[in-house]
Amino acid sequence: MHNKEHLLIIGAGLCGSLLAFRLAQHGYKITLVEKRPDLRKAEISAGRSINLAFSDRAYKAFKMAGLQEKVAKLFIPMHGRMLHDLEGKTFLSEYSGREDEYINSISRTELNALLLDEVEKFDNVNLIFNHTCQHLDLDESTADFFDEKNQKKINLTADYIFGTDGGGSAVRQSMQSQKDFLFSHSQEFLTHGYKELHFPPTEEGEYAIAKNALHIWPRGENMLIGLPNPDQSFTVTLFLAYEGGQYNFNNLTTPEIVEEYFKKEFADAYAILPNLKAEFFENPTSPLGTVKCAPWYYNKTMLMGDAAHAIVPFYGQGMNASFEDVVEFDYWLTRHDFDLKKTFIDFSKTRKPDADAIADLALDNFYEMKSHTAQALFLKKRQIELALEKEFPKAYASKYSLVTFKDNIPYKEAMEKGRAQDKAILSLLKHDKLKDNQSLEEQLKLIHKTTKQLLEGDFLLEN
Ligand SMILES: Cc1cc2nc3c(=O)[nH]c(=O)nc-3n(C[C@H](O)[C@H](O)[C@H](O)COP(=O)(O)OP(=O)(O)OC[C@H]3O[C@@H](n4cnc5c(N)ncnc54)[C@H](O)[C@@H]3O)c2cc1C
Repeated sequence: MHNKEHLLIIGAGLCGSLLAFRLAQHGYKITLVEKRPDLRKAEISAGRSINLAFSDRAYKAFKMAGLQEKVAKLFIPMHGRMLHDLEGKTFLSEYSGREDEYINSISRTELNALLLDEVEKFDNVNLIFNHTCQHLDLDESTADFFDEKNQKKINLTADYIFGTDGGGSAVRQSMQSQKDFLFSHSQEFLTHGYKELHFPPTEEGEYAIAKNALHIWPRGENMLIGLPNPDQSFTVTLFLAYEGGQYNFNNLTTPEIVEEYFKKEFADAYAILPNLKAEFFENPTSPLGTVKCAPWYYNKTMLMGDAAHAIVPFYGQGMNASFEDVVEFDYWLTRHDFDLKKTFIDFSKTRKPDADAIADLALDNFYEMKSHTAQALFLKKRQIELALEKEFPKAYASKYSLVTFKDNIPYKEAMEKGRAQDKAILSLLKHDKLKDNQSLEEQLKLIHKTTKQLLEGDFLLEN
């Protein structure tokens, strides 16, 4: 046991629960406060991203906490993207040429419940539900909460406070309204929103489409994706523009037009969406956005997870990044011999560039997933990369692999190398310099050389 300081963690979602667990392991006295009822007992409202893609950075955090075996029981492996074209023909694009590299579909509720169960085992943690944080006094390290059950206000004081209260963070808002320091903040919404739908199991109780893949219906500006659930169903998400184009969220206003849209764009999915019309109008349409802010801490209060860096979901990395925050924080905490103030400074300094990088990568992937995934040049690039990963598992990793599976490489480095590699391959393909009669080894050398030139800034694109 290292410390007896009292820490207040606001938001018992994914990041806050893991942070509470890890800091409780170190012996801190923790109060973890959540605005919602205990999700292990309450009904979860429909349409709130039911499952998530869990990959190596999140797994690294669970290994650190010693919870890796427990979390692995919740995984449904997804080995690649199953692309569905307009005729319903499918094509599996594997995530990696290395067999042990894949991502996992996991239920958000089960994952959060696992963490809450584990957190509750500590005597040094006080877990409070149904209390909404309203405001913080950052100079005094106190926070006002509204007790939703008893309809009254309470105030909690702590030595240090963590805001892990998600994208709409009340803790971040208190930093914004604090006039004694310069707080930069930006929130950019996408032109697209999302809505969740549901493929139920077949009458035989089977998955309606292949279980071990992340299904994508890329349609230019818009797309549908599907991730498997443990009950043989799929959670399906429609990413659609609010306006513009023939169909958008603003003009899909009647059951007839929704049906027309799905029959035309996603005929094979439409066939297994028996409750489409009801779900479409009952489930919320939610916005997607990126939050960037700095600094992440002021005095004795620190932001973490989506509260510090909410990103769009197209790299499947928001939760992974939030869990990795806890690993990075833990690294500095132990390095600074449990001095939280020093940890705040170094954690923010080293982590912020990586959070910015994954935010930008997630936006890149938005464009890639909805359109490029089905394009010939992109497919050829993937084909070459998969062959290289298979043949030279140690010498080559695609941008996707660097971000998703190489958890020892920071996001910023993964972004810089991955983008240069992408540019190198696409440029070499465009100028017909990667030929089928070349050996894979020759192709690898050429790609490495061009990537290096790009990274060093002495490669002139011929176009
Ligand atoms: C459609 C969609 C799909 C996604 N898919 C993926 C994916 O496949 N892979 C991936 O890695 N990430 C994914 N993400 C991102 C992921 O959901 C988030 O990055 C992750 O949930 C962040 O965890 P968090 O704990 O920081 O925030 P949250 O999970 O939002 O948790 C915040 C918690 O704080 C509580 N809270 C909020 N306000 C207050 C308050 N005022 N007082 C007290 N408590 C409060 C909330 O109730 C909640 O429990 C997806 C996101 C979306 C929207």
